[in-house]
Amino acid sequence: MNTSIKFSYKSYKNLLKKITKKRTPIFFNKYKSFSKPFIIIRHDIEYFVDAAFELAKIEFGLGIKSTFFFLLTSNYNLFSERNSNLINKIKGMGHRFGIHYDANYLNENKINLNENLKKQIDIFENFFKVKINAISCHRPKLKFSNYNDKKIFNVYNKEFQRSVKYFSDSQQVFREDVEELIKSNKNLHLLIHDYTWSSKNDKWEKNIMKFYKKNSNYEKLYFKRTVKDWQLGLKMRKKKDLVFKKKILT
Ligand SMILES: [Zn+2]
Repeated sequence: MNTSIKFSYKSYKNLLKKITKKRTPIFFNKYKSFSKPFIIIRHDIEYFVDAAFELAKIEFGLGIKSTFFFLLTSNYNLFSERNSNLINKIKGMGHRFGIHYDANYLNENKINLNENLKKQIDIFENFFKVKINAISCHRPKLKFSNYNDKKIFNVYNKEFQRSVKYFSDSQQVFREDVEELIKSNKNLHLLIHDYTWSSKNDKWEKNIMKFYKKNSNYEKLYFKRTVKDWQLGLKMRKKKDLVFKKKILT
C-alpha cells in the first residue's frame, strides 16, 4: 500500500528521524504512565541476528532504544560465539530484550507453553545477564495461549493493543499510509523485522537469501577451522593420550 517507502537502512534512519520528531521512544512498561506522545519500537527477529545488529546500530546512532525479541526455536543459535557477541553488543547499546515465542510449534510438540516460556526466559536472562521484560507471539493465530506470568509484558495484551496504534513492516507491506500515521498525533507501536531492510533497498525475498548466504559463508569458515583443529588433534593423539594417561593414572 505504501509504495513510497524504501526499505534501505538509510530510509529506516529517516523514518525514525521523522517519527521521533514529535514522539519520545519509550519501552513497553512505560506506556500507561508516559504523558507525552511516544513511540515503542519492537523487533521480532525471525532469521538473522546480524540483521538485528544492523538495526540496533542505526537506532543507537540516533539515540533511540528499542526492544529485540529473539526466537529461541528459530534456525539461528543465540548462544553461538558469533551471535552471542552480537547480542551482547546490542545490549551494550542500551536496547532491551524480549522473547519471541512460537505458541503453535510448542503446541504441535505437546510442550506446555507456560512451563517452557518460563524456561526460555530463564535461559536468556542467565546467559546474557539481562532482564526479559516482554514477550511476543510468533505468527499469532486467533487462538493462542497466553503466558500466565503477568509481570512479563505481553505485546498482544488487549488493553495495549487497543490503546496504542500498531503498525508493522511485515513482508515490506505497511497496512496503512505511514506518512499519515507519522503526521497524526497517535502514540505508536512499531514492529520492525530483521529481514525487511538492507543497505540496498532490496526486496525482502532477496534480503533473506543474501543474509543466508552471508551466514553460510561464515559457517563454512567455522567448519574449515574446526576440521583443521580435529585433524591437528588426530596427529597429536598419541602424544596427548600419553600425557593424559600420566595425569590421570599417576
Ligand atoms: Zn515472528
